[in-house]
Amino acid sequence: MKHVDVLVRGAGIVGQSLALALARLGLTVGLRTDAPRADAAPDVRAYALNAASVALLKSLKVWDALPAHAATPVYDMHVQGDAEGAAIDFSAWEQRTGELAWIVDAPVLERELGSAVRFSPHVHLLAAPQAEQVQADLVALCEGKASATRESLGVRFERHDYGHSAIAARLVSSVPHQGTARQWFRSPDVLALLPFDSPEPQHSFALVWSLPRERCAELMALDDEAFAAALMAATRGEAGDLRLASPRAEWPLAIAQASAWCGPGWVLLGDAAHLVHPLAGQGLNLGLADVAALAQVIEAREPWRPLSDEKLLRRYVRERALPTWAMGRVTDGLLNLFAQSAPGARELRNRGLDLVNRITPVKRWLTARALDR
Ligand SMILES: Cc1cc2nc3c(=O)[nH]c(=O)nc-3n(C[C@H](O)[C@H](O)[C@H](O)COP(=O)(O)OP(=O)(O)OC[C@H]3O[C@@H](n4cnc5c(N)ncnc54)[C@H](O)[C@@H]3O)c2cc1C
Repeated sequence: MKHVDVLVRGAGIVGQSLALALARLGLTVGLRTDAPRADAAPDVRAYALNAASVALLKSLKVWDALPAHAATPVYDMHVQGDAEGAAIDFSAWEQRTGELAWIVDAPVLERELGSAVRFSPHVHLLAAPQAEQVQADLVALCEGKASATRESLGVRFERHDYGHSAIAARLVSSVPHQGTARQWFRSPDVLALLPFDSPEPQHSFALVWSLPRERCAELMALDDEAFAAALMAATRGEAGDLRLASPRAEWPLAIAQASAWCGPGWVLLGDAAHLVHPLAGQGLNLGLADVAALAQVIEAREPWRPLSDEKLLRRYVRERALPTWAMGRVTDGLLNLFAQSAPGARELRNRGLDLVNRITPVKRWLTARALDR
């Protein structure tokens, strides 16, 4: 293979989805894959995906291939502040929708995308040396936050390190989750329990617990029993008796934006272009929205316009830059609000939660933004 229309670098969820989306337009796509590292730990994460992401995965014929236990609907969400009784509840019923989100097994989704890519006649899987010899009209960089190609293009990744890390793990609870996601917002940690059906249907949760790095290191050093006890203290037993059902994994957290998202013959998508805090569960949703937008811009291009044309690629950037920036600001703002330990700030944020909870139209509007409907 000497030439492809698009070379996609990075075969994570964003890269594989892009390869499939472009192949559906009849383009020939090279997908550069990296051999999995032998020492890589299994990914224990489960992602909260919104309606737009699910629609994209459906259109790529991947969603319906997921086994039932790998995708769990969320019907309700209970968010607690750091004062007694300060809380906000979201429900699919109130929102007049089937579900608020789906919690999806990260490695299973990646695996199903991998099968779809292998069966797509327009996608050519290229190992590192082969990929370097292939000519492409457009190179799409989906290499994640540490993208080396982005760096070699001289694009800066303007990054603010939160000094926090997230602990992810799978848990099993003594009580059924009933499709309810729970989140505790306080200073200095944010803890989320996402309802999940694996390993035990109806009784599992995916944990995402973000904390200052030193506290995170202490919790990672505990044995499983002591960690479960710390978790029970943090959740006050409100989600039942919790025990670990997987190893724990840790991710350093930062917010970042690339200084440029495209140039002649190249474009950035997913975490290679932007990084947000996982508290709102939006990083991959933003990346999949990038995929949908780029595919749509390419499909709608003038017949004479080459894929490498920067004017074409700027249409994609115009569509994606603002919503991505806004999501970064919202998550950052929430974090800052809950990081303030002054009593006045504490009272204000908890009253704010209560107020939003009482004003149904505001709550509906906020939920609709998060659902991307
Ligand atoms: C704890 C945690 C929980 C999260 N929860 C959610 C959630 O609930 N919902 C949500 O929407 N998002 C969530 N996210 C964010 C989500 O994980 C990321 O946004 C998403 O994985 C980004 O996908 P990506 O394909 O852009 O990058 P990656 O997943 O990083 O994939 C990049 C791929 O490129 C490969 N690669 C790297 N360099 C090269 C190279 N030079 N050549 C070829 N290949 C290369 C890598 O090996 C990898 O396979 C969470 C993140 C964390 C840390």
